Amino acid sequence: MVKAEGVHKSFGAVEVLKGIDLEVKQGEVFCLIGPSGSGKSTFLRCINHLEKINADVDAEGDKLYELKDSEVALKRRDIGMVFQRFNLFPHMTAVENVMEAPVQVKGMSRAQARERARGLLERVGLADKAGNYPSQLSGGQQQRVAIARALAMDPKLMLFDEPTSALDPELVGDVLDVMRDLAESGMTMVVVTHEMFAREVGDSLVFMDNGVVVESGNPRDVLTDPQHDRTKAFLSKVL
Ligand code: ATP
Ligand code: MG
Repeated sequence: MVKAEGVHKSFGAVEVLKGIDLEVKQGEVFCLIGPSGSGKSTFLRCINHLEKINADVDAEGDKLYELKDSEVALKRRDIGMVFQRFNLFPHMTAVENVMEAPVQVKGMSRAQARERARGLLERVGLADKAGNYPSQLSGGQQQRVAIARALAMDPKLMLFDEPTSALDPELVGDVLDVMRDLAESGMTMVVVTHEMFAREVGDSLVFMDNGVVVESGNPRDVLTDPQHDRTKAFLSKVL
């Protein structure tokens, strides 16, 4: 589903990704952990073609660097992304936020998009909040609208960049529940997470540090019995 081979990324003279190799299989929940500044978000952005890179990220058979801008736009339609901050459109209600891309990008009728959006809001437990504006929703509710909005495009792959790290602790559970349901439905997911989510739901885990993959494997194994000193040091701080 996603195959990265020797992905390098520099900002000016600073090399942020120093040759990332990894493979995400269809239906897999793939977790990324690592210290602040290690390059996790940058790597996610590479998968979604938000960064131009100097190597291959192959999402479903296409080499990224071979894509034209118009082709990148088409690919991106298949990838849903949820950020740390919710980035909802503030002047639109929850249901309008979820409808927007299917109407604008896919040319779906407003009536059909609205009906689907209501279904998606129900799926994330927010059927009764469809008419609320983002300012009238809690952080956790906003994040669930953001997930519904990403799902509205029928993505083949969902990218999550620390989706719960900006939330009050009591709001984290509802968002993780939605992500757990999504994983159980078979969605392929790449999740940057500091959470127990990796241990409970993850199929694979990669520990990144300073732009390289230090250690990877089954999340339970890596988290309970890290092999590398850098992984041990990191986990002793966060767990
Ligand atoms: P965090 O856990 O804090 O979110 P991260 O692992 O997601 O960290 P990145 O956001 O990928 O880290 O950043 C990796 C490095 O790249 C950092 O040193 C950051 O300062 C640098 N960086 C990221 N984006 C840019 C940019 N647009 N221009 C210059 N440097 C950048
Ligand atoms: Mg980040």
